[in-house]
Amino acid sequence: MSKRSLRDLPPAALDGKRALVRVDFNVPLKDGAVADDARIRAAVPTISYLRDKGARIVLLSHLGRPSGPDPKLSLRQIMRDVERVLGAPVEFIPDPATGVATTRRLPRGGVALVENTRFWPGEEANDAAFAQTLAALGDFFVNDAFGSAHRAHASTEAVARLLKPAVSGFLMEQELRYLGDALDHPKRPFVAVLGGAKISGKIDVIEALLPRVDEILVGGAMASTFFLAIGFQVGGSLVERDKEDVAKRLLTKAGAKLILPRGAVVAPSLARASERRDAPADRIPADCAIFDIDMATRHDFRARIVKAKTIFWNGPMGVFETPPFDEGTRAIAEALVEAGKRGATTVVGGGDSAAAVAGFESKLTHVSTGGGASLEFLEGLALPGVTALEDA
Ligand code: ADP
Ligand code: MG
Repeated sequence: MSKRSLRDLPPAALDGKRALVRVDFNVPLKDGAVADDARIRAAVPTISYLRDKGARIVLLSHLGRPSGPDPKLSLRQIMRDVERVLGAPVEFIPDPATGVATTRRLPRGGVALVENTRFWPGEEANDAAFAQTLAALGDFFVNDAFGSAHRAHASTEAVARLLKPAVSGFLMEQELRYLGDALDHPKRPFVAVLGGAKISGKIDVIEALLPRVDEILVGGAMASTFFLAIGFQVGGSLVERDKEDVAKRLLTKAGAKLILPRGAVVAPSLARASERRDAPADRIPADCAIFDIDMATRHDFRARIVKAKTIFWNGPMGVFETPPFDEGTRAIAEALVEAGKRGATTVVGGGDSAAAVAGFESKLTHVSTGGGASLEFLEGLALPGVTALEDA
């Protein structure tokens, strides 16, 4: 399922040519300013390579979920940040339908950014005519937006069928390598760590991982639903009572592979953190809720993680946004770093999970930029934006 990469195109296919590049500049904004430029920085290797080879670069991205043109979701707002990160001036193309002249005027190595593709209804409709409008802005297509690849939109899917060559950018290539090859042919033991708020939405991920992994360590609120399934009480914990049967079925299917927390950090409420204490899983107080994995679980999970040679992690172990309930999640992040030092491949996927390991990225093998896309990919679903690219 290997795809042709930007690296595979000969220099003559790049020099002076217009590269239409789908990036994921769906960045968080605060008061009209970029709050976190990680996604812009993630596109730099592809853009710099193209500039270096003398290509003219035309960037496409969506931002948020506008239902038509909306100044609050205009990509104009991120222009200065893109220029700062790239260290180069960037031209703005307010409408792809009238942008061809601008793309032809770009100098070799020059960069232009097209307005939010979702301002046009053809984008989400994967409309062929809109894709043709986009395709006219380039001489070849590069998709570096893994985080948008699970949606068949004009700028991710239809355009890749119209404009050839259509290849993966370096970020996309890296995502496919680590979420694909590394987890399809894992060095063993292969341990998955799953957490987060819910089982629902991740049932298919658990099912897809079960036959591939040696162990699945479960934490977060997801564990509470498994606790219910084995007959433990969970007090006021976040739990999916309607998913108890699903949890039972997964427990039967998983057998000894599924490892539940030994206990939890409990408190009467998030605000009453000073009253927190560790409680064994079979003795969660009725007037408390679970907000993190306890010490015993951190030690147990750590021991299993540092022995593994491949680790995939999705979903925080607790309410990591509210210290001190981030400590279990931090302990797992540190265990992954330790495993990495011992030669393991460590892969993190999921929006909140990526936020939880912010600052640790360089000590992990791969932190996926694609929240939903990384989970769909792990489930084995075809991502339309990837499928549409040329096979290697
Ligand atoms: P990701 O985005 O990485 O896939 P999720 O969205 O599934 O992760 O889960 C993240 C959320 O899970 C966080 O907001 C976190 O607060 C919540 N969470 C984790 N453990 C608990 C818990 N014990 N109780 C309530 N919420 C929890
Ligand atoms: Mg999330």
